Amino acid sequence: MNTKQFKVETGLEVKSCLTCGIVYAIPTELIKKRRGDHKSFYCPNGHSLYFPEMTDEERLSRSLELCQISCENQKRKSRFNDYKARYWRGKVTKILQRKEARDGWEKTESIL
Ligand SMILES: [Zn+2]
Repeated sequence: MNTKQFKVETGLEVKSCLTCGIVYAIPTELIKKRRGDHKSFYCPNGHSLYFPEMTDEERLSRSLELCQISCENQKRKSRFNDYKARYWRGKVTKILQRKEARDGWEKTESIL
């Protein structure tokens, strides 16, 4: 019989099942992968387990996404406020022009 020997090194993480309490070891790389993709894995007794919490990368990505949304909202508010300011500036200008035409007042552009 021809046998070959090979050496495999892998890290194992010791976990316990939340349902049955069995203690088991699972490769560190697999745990890392499951934390990232949130897919199910099984304890030795067949209970389905998964990591629902976000990874640091997901948390940072979500935080960045929220910052971008907030930034866009602020830009929209700013554009709307600019629009309102132009609108009211135009209204005031018309009122002053009418008043000037009616009363012969001096132009008061300096206050605008
Ligand atoms: Zn279990």
